[in-house]
Amino acid sequence: MSVNEGPVVKLVVHCRRCGGWLLSAGSVAEGIGPTCAVHERAEQHAAAALTLFDPSEPVELTLFDTAA
Ligand SMILES: [Zn+2]
Repeated sequence: MSVNEGPVVKLVVHCRRCGGWLLSAGSVAEGIGPTCAVHERAEQHAAAALTLFDPSEPVELTLFDTAA
């Protein structure tokens, strides 16, 4: 009489960015791998910066406003 361990079912999710397998619980929960998450955040920050900075309206950044 052998012990039937049955099939090992693992929840596997593909990274939404690169399509790679997500193995860690945190990555599965986020739906993206840690490396891709870094890239995605960087892209979101870049997109946000582009949105905030309107090239049609030149803005003078005065870093020493209060010091003047
Ligand atoms: Zn990825």
